[in-house]
Amino acid sequence: MKRITFGIAFAVATAFSAPVAVAQQKFVTIGTGGVTGVYYAAGGAICRLVNKDRAKHGIRCSVESTGGSVFNINTIKAGELDLGVSQSDVMYNAAKGVKQFKDSGAYGDLRAVMSLHPEPFTVVARKEANVKSFADFKGKKFNVGNPGSGTRASMEEILAEMNWKLSDFSLASELKADEHGPALCDGKIDGFFYAVGHPSANIQDPTTSCGAKLVPLTGPAVEKMVKDWPFYAKVTIPAGLYPNNPQATETFGVLATLVSSSKVPADSVYAIVKAVFDNFEEFKKLHPAFGHLKAEEMVKNGLSAPLHDGAARYYKEKGWIK
Ligand code: GLU
Repeated sequence: MKRITFGIAFAVATAFSAPVAVAQQKFVTIGTGGVTGVYYAAGGAICRLVNKDRAKHGIRCSVESTGGSVFNINTIKAGELDLGVSQSDVMYNAAKGVKQFKDSGAYGDLRAVMSLHPEPFTVVARKEANVKSFADFKGKKFNVGNPGSGTRASMEEILAEMNWKLSDFSLASELKADEHGPALCDGKIDGFFYAVGHPSANIQDPTTSCGAKLVPLTGPAVEKMVKDWPFYAKVTIPAGLYPNNPQATETFGVLATLVSSSKVPADSVYAIVKAVFDNFEEFKKLHPAFGHLKAEEMVKNGLSAPLHDGAARYYKEKGWIK
C-alpha cells in the first residue's frame, strides 16, 4: 500500500514539474523588414547569439519579416512583437508623438535597446532612365516605399522639404523593398528610394543584374534637414561597393536601432544585449554592414527614447554608461 502511494505521489510530482519547465521557456520575437534588407539579417544575427545560450536563460528568440520601422513600433505597442528594428528618425517621432505618430500621440513606454548600422538614404535609378540627380525623377515612375516602412516615412519628409508632391512623379508606386529591385530591372519603375545599410543584397541584385545606378541625394533641402534635426547625418556610399557603380555616392541618412517596450521584462532584454556584446566580434562578422560597429557608440548614438532597464543594467555593468 505504501509503495503504491509513493508511486502515485511520484507520478503526480513528475506531471506537475513538466509544465513548470515549459512555462520557464520564454519566447521573444524581433520585427525586422524585408528579407533582402539588413534588418532581417540583424534580427537573425541577434537571435542566433541569443539562442546559443538558451540553456542558461531559457529564451527562444525568433525573427519576423515585416513592412519596416513604423510597423514594428506600432506592433510592439500593440503587444504583438517584443522588440523591433527601427530607423532613429522613426524612433524619435514615435517617442514624441509627431509626424507619422501624430494621431497616436507620444509612446511613453517605447524603450531604446541599442543602435546598429548606419542607413544612408539610397536612391537607385534604372540604367536607361538617364537620371543624374534626384530632380531628374520629376515626371518619372518612382517607388516611394510601402506604408509602414521607415523608408516611406523618411521619403515623405524629404519630399515635403523639397516642396514635391507624389503627383510630381508620373507614378509613385508603393512596392515593398523586396519588390523594388525586380520592378526596376523589368522597367516597371525608373527608380526607388530605400533607407538601408550597406552593403545590402537588396542593392546588390539590381546593380548586378541590370546595371542599376546609385544617385546622389544632395542640395539645399538636405542641408536644411541635417542642420535642423539631430538624427540626420551626411554620409557617402563608398566607391565600388556595388557592381557598375565605381563612383562614391553622396547622400544623408539615419541609424538603424533596436527598440522595445517597458512592458517587456528586463531579464529578457538583458539576456539579448548580453548575447550581442559578450559575442561582439562574432556579431560583427555576421553581416558586412556590422563590421565597423563600436559598442560604446551603439549604447548612446541615435537613441531618443529612454534606455530599456534590462539594457541599462548591462551597459552599467560594463561601465559604458553611468
Ligand atoms: N529602414 C527600412 C525601413 O524601416 C528597412 C531597412 C532594412 O530592412 O534593412 O523601412
